[in-house]
Amino acid sequence: MNYRKHLSSNRQFFEFEWYLRDFLFRANNNKTGEFYKLFETKDIVSNFQEKYFRYRTWNVDQISSALSNVLPALQAKGAITYDPTRGIVQLNSKLDRKQCSLCYYINCLGEEEIKLCLRCGSEKLVEFPNPKKL
Ligand SMILES: [Zn+2]
Repeated sequence: MNYRKHLSSNRQFFEFEWYLRDFLFRANNNKTGEFYKLFETKDIVSNFQEKYFRYRTWNVDQISSALSNVLPALQAKGAITYDPTRGIVQLNSKLDRKQCSLCYYINCLGEEEIKLCLRCGSEKLVEFPNPKKL
């Protein structure tokens, strides 16, 4: 059952990135409007274990290893600045939640990122939740 120990496939990498973006989005989805931009990787790891059922069976080393694989990708896309030596992640901007009109994937994207669906590459993204449908 529990054979998914590492990010052995693209799918697991992709999934981990989704959860990480979700985490960074939620950290700033507050009524006060404050921008929390600095995160320690060890805090992200413990949050993953506590908050996401998906990663409850993963140990600290497994989550840390996945995280250190995914963070450089987020940095390359312009969402964060990552300092692996200090274990510090800095958000470049708050993430915005947008839904793809084609595949319905929920994307959490930073201001400086290219606005394309992370799953299918479509540029037809709408605000999520969609204000027109509320
Ligand atoms: Zn899509």
